[in-house]
Amino acid sequence: MDYRDVLEQLKKGNPLSREAWETLIVERESVDTASLYAAADAVRRKSYGDAVYVRGLIEFTNYCGRNCYYCGIRAGNERLSRYRLTEEEILAACETGYGLGIRTFVLQGGEDAYFTDDRICALVGEIKRRYPEAAVTLSLGEKPRASYERYFAAGAERYLLRHETADPKHYGKLHPAAQTLSNRKRCLYDLKEIGYQVGAGFMVGSPGQTARTLAEDMIFLQKLEPHMVGIGPFIPHADTPFKDDPAGTLEDTLFFLALLRLALPHALLPATTALATIHPRGREMGLSAGANVVMPNLSPVSVRDKYRLYDGKVCTGEEAAECISCLARRVETIGYRIVSDRGDWKGDDI
Ligand code: SAH
Repeated sequence: MDYRDVLEQLKKGNPLSREAWETLIVERESVDTASLYAAADAVRRKSYGDAVYVRGLIEFTNYCGRNCYYCGIRAGNERLSRYRLTEEEILAACETGYGLGIRTFVLQGGEDAYFTDDRICALVGEIKRRYPEAAVTLSLGEKPRASYERYFAAGAERYLLRHETADPKHYGKLHPAAQTLSNRKRCLYDLKEIGYQVGAGFMVGSPGQTARTLAEDMIFLQKLEPHMVGIGPFIPHADTPFKDDPAGTLEDTLFFLALLRLALPHALLPATTALATIHPRGREMGLSAGANVVMPNLSPVSVRDKYRLYDGKVCTGEEAAECISCLARRVETIGYRIVSDRGDWKGDDI
């Protein structure tokens, strides 16, 4: 199989086999990336024009009961100073964001037992009561189906839960044995069935990742057909078992963003903070390679540095307003436009 033929199939919108994905991924150094990114950009413009959607990220707790080996806020990290925002602080972050034109709030955190289903539902309900036209996205990790159902009934419409890797062995290298790929997948399918717009995704360059595990990721995403896919480079954190592992690269991340845009033409793909962390123009390059979402931080500046999933995270010092105007300028320099819109998935309209 020639990788150029595989690329042609992908550009035509045909789903690829595991072998075809692997061929393309193995040959990634040979691919003409300028033409790949141009093809991805054409698909993105066909689906969403030049719009870049904004999601206001509220990192509301860094307490976590899990022990993912790559993550800086893992339960086992005793050096981290822990915080959780109060309901008032979370609502104040929404108010600031709303005033700046943001119409999607993403509540993300560790798996913190303090935030019971009752507390999450009350919070979601209050945000929806104050801002009925805004979308609430949750990113709280793995929960029983009944909890996802309750959050949905309370008004949450989207859920981000990266699958991290679709290869069970690789999953086992990244997580303790008590955490399984099958439960992660169960969560994603439950969320989809309940009616959420669902986001999966993986880190590029995570320890133990190979062309084969990446092909498995692409096959899984092709099958799940998530509405959103979050990918960013793995970046080591000094207080984790992977502290000495190398970070994922800019080139690989851009390559996978472009492949995802071609494989899932209507996906909402963020140019992530991790991408901006490994290169000063990483976000812009991500947008030019197929991404169409940015996620400015609305968390109070006082806690930003504590939500440290990885080292060197950028944009921890600026107030939300500064952050958004900086993003808007950056987006314009590359020929796109920030829109004040919920930015729902448009696949059903077409
Ligand atoms: N508890 C939630 C949110 C996790 S943090 C959940 O389980 O979904 C959000 C994402 O950050 C993770 O899914 C992971 O892919 C990413 N992340 C964690 N540690 C990272 C690291 N060291 N480098 C890059 N990304 C990381």
